[in-house]
Amino acid sequence: MKTKQDYPYQHIYERDNFTCRYCGVNGSKDFNSWWNAALTIDHITPVIHGGTDDPSNLVVSCHSCNLYKGSENCRSFDDAKVVVDRKRKEGEVWFLKHAKTC
Ligand SMILES: [Zn+2]
Repeated sequence: MKTKQDYPYQHIYERDNFTCRYCGVNGSKDFNSWWNAALTIDHITPVIHGGTDDPSNLVVSCHSCNLYKGSENCRSFDDAKVVVDRKRKEGEVWFLKHAKTC
């Protein structure tokens, strides 16, 4: 029988309270919040750039923040937050220009 500790990165999810460190969306309120957040684990310094699975290099991230951060070579959480915030702002500009209907 599997335990919570068998779940990969369970300790990181618990450390970050099942909350995206970039935008603050919380995925632990109920099943729908968890489902919609689609929480993932982000490597602050991506593995492709030499990042490791050390807990100091891992944060909980919602799917959107992780997708938009992508594999940008960040050296700290603050660097990564700047990237996500910049892409979120760019996405908002695109949304207002192309997708907002009212
Ligand atoms: Zn997020």
